[in-house]
Amino acid sequence: MKIANRLQKLRQKLTEKEIDAIFVSQPENRYYLSGFGGSSGYLLITPQSAILATDFRYIEQAKRQAPDYEIFQISADIADWFPRLIAELSLGRLGFEAGDITFTMHQRLTDTLNKAKFKLRLVPVDGLVEYLRAIKEPEEIQLITRAADITDNAFDYIKDVIHTGMSEKEVAWEIEKFLREKGSEPVPFDIIVAAGSNSALPHAKPSPRAIRCGEPVLIDIGARVEGYSSDLSRTICLGIPDDTFNKVYDTVVEAQLTAIAAIKNGITGGEIDNLARTVIKQAGYGEAFGHSLGHGVGLAPHEAPRLGPNSSERLADGMVFTIEPGIYITGWGGVRIEDLVVMESGKIRVISKASK
Ligand code: ZN
Repeated sequence: MKIANRLQKLRQKLTEKEIDAIFVSQPENRYYLSGFGGSSGYLLITPQSAILATDFRYIEQAKRQAPDYEIFQISADIADWFPRLIAELSLGRLGFEAGDITFTMHQRLTDTLNKAKFKLRLVPVDGLVEYLRAIKEPEEIQLITRAADITDNAFDYIKDVIHTGMSEKEVAWEIEKFLREKGSEPVPFDIIVAAGSNSALPHAKPSPRAIRCGEPVLIDIGARVEGYSSDLSRTICLGIPDDTFNKVYDTVVEAQLTAIAAIKNGITGGEIDNLARTVIKQAGYGEAFGHSLGHGVGLAPHEAPRLGPNSSERLADGMVFTIEPGIYITGWGGVRIEDLVVMESGKIRVISKASK
């Protein structure tokens, strides 16, 4: 992990935004910028200094994991430690992560600054660190690939094990055990196993419902390796699928392949979403694809960039994201196929290897 490089990129962004420093509270951003894996703490990053503020429980861990940082011990009372933290820094504009700081926390910070008569202005920033995180370093792509290999193997394993009469919950548990035994950290999101009409719910929760012959079974799984996630969806059918399954499945595959073939450097997430969506619309299922085409994957299982209607983010080399069109028909069920891809030299390389 090249913390110094990441800090340098962030400092450039601060200059562009005319901010003197940034107060980082979002957990994945905190880890990304410092290497500190504790579950509580803040970073204060100025052009000259990098401070990690955390409480007694994490001081030793912070020293070990974040050698690029000066460690500052905090207490439960922000009015006590925040003025001391910024006292020597003569800051004019301090950025805070508007998408993460709660209303209460913002009020406390404002009160503290007013009482201590600081002239500092709190400036909301959004997506600054997330934007850096969207472009992966080679080491990050390696970790994501390791997580993807575990999910690919889990899918191939469950395809052999799954049988009619097994419940969605049982299948989900079999998958989770496999993922953990093969080296995944706690899974990054709840496993989805949805059969028959349940698969019409894009984010169904595994239920005691037994899997029957001839119906769609939607499986969406992820593993995590050294903090990095993978994300994979497949839809299978035990026994002979009906005509709807075949038509819906072929349409979803075509939408996915169309999107993958068209992605090139600089294209926006919105443009790619639209291409896949058009394939689904032309097959008569326009209303049945109600979610975005894809999302970035990294330290969070859902992160920048977003590939969805009107998404203006431009896809660039080093981005890792999913392509996951789906068709959901109430009462019948749904099909989603999701692969993890990486953009390299302006082209897409598909990371997922699980059979379709
Ligand atoms: Zn996904």
